[in-house]
Amino acid sequence: MKIHGCIFCQVAAHEKTAKILYEDEHCIAFQDIHPKAPVHLLVIPRKHITSLNDNLDDDKALLGHLMTVVGRMAKEQGIDGTGYRAVINTNAEAGQTVFHLHIHMLGGRILNWPPG
Ligand code: AMP
Ligand code: ZN
Repeated sequence: MKIHGCIFCQVAAHEKTAKILYEDEHCIAFQDIHPKAPVHLLVIPRKHITSLNDNLDDDKALLGHLMTVVGRMAKEQGIDGTGYRAVINTNAEAGQTVFHLHIHMLGGRILNWPPG
């Protein structure tokens, strides 16, 4: 279900412009508007999930699907060999600012560990 005022629900519904790189029935991948690496994409479910803190018992297949799309996008972007990172920020101390679940996929440069 689409949540009123959720920007990622709007991206998924094509009501808000984004540079979309992949989409299917369940998810959509698009460029982050403020990229933190040469490749910085977001993979989101079409369904509104607020965060990993939601009850996701019925969404296991969907979550697995999102991860397969991350890998697919890394190949398409040509960074599967050099390396990339998939990140899900959850709540304030992790820096979550958009409360519609999204997987950051970052690559194209050396990524430090641990992250800030
Ligand atoms: P987080 O801080 O983990 O919640 O990540 C939210 C991400 O969404 C940030 O990296 C933002 O740059 C990105 N973002 C916010 N609004 C948009 C938008 N309209 N299109 C693309 N990316 C966005
Ligand atoms: Zn949403």
